[in-house]
Amino acid sequence: MNREQLAQEIIDTCLEMNALGLNQGTSGNVSARYKEGMLITPSGIPYKKLTPDMIVYVDKEGNYEAGKVPSSEWHFHLSCFAARPELNAVVHNHAVHSTAVSILNRNIPALHYMVAVTGTDHVPCLPYSTFGSQPLADSVANGIRESKAILMQHHGMIAMEVNLEKALWLANEVEVLANLYLKIAAVQSEIPTLPAQEMQVVLEKFKSYGLKSE
Ligand code: 13P
Ligand code: ZN
Repeated sequence: MNREQLAQEIIDTCLEMNALGLNQGTSGNVSARYKEGMLITPSGIPYKKLTPDMIVYVDKEGNYEAGKVPSSEWHFHLSCFAARPELNAVVHNHAVHSTAVSILNRNIPALHYMVAVTGTDHVPCLPYSTFGSQPLADSVANGIRESKAILMQHHGMIAMEVNLEKALWLANEVEVLANLYLKIAAVQSEIPTLPAQEMQVVLEKFKSYGLKSE
């Protein structure tokens, strides 16, 4: 895939993310691994106004093209690509239910077998750090190594997968899990979970299960 095609795919992912109700306005950002760095959405521009030439290339040292301003979260996108060399796309948003769980500062436990989409048995919530900061990027690097989807306290979620289609699918699944979490927490304080042993069985099955995407 050439740069223009990948940039267009990033824009399509952003538009679909908002259409799915996973994000509002210019919150959130999307990136894909490209050459020695990444292509990422520009900061603060409504997704409907994006054209492929506006998507910014950032190299692995954090240098970017003159005249363009990458997402304020380029630090954590880069740290995701460094932390998970086998994954190639990052979706970040402020999905309402996921963000609400992050404000409660809770991990999403194994309340449903679909938690295995993360590659582990929970969705971790990282402690609060200022948006766009290097401490946040450092914390995200550790979190994304543990799980392909993470919550950031008082902020939102990050989902990382092999390609943009799967990263958006993962983000949507995490939002469904967060919605379930809040519905259960509203009824009782203790969240029923699957036994660790059963989650091991499910995680094994998920090695060959999930969205079929080339
Ligand atoms: P950007 O518009 O700079 O990508 O910021 C959105 C955001 O979600 C910051 O965390
Ligand atoms: Zn954000």
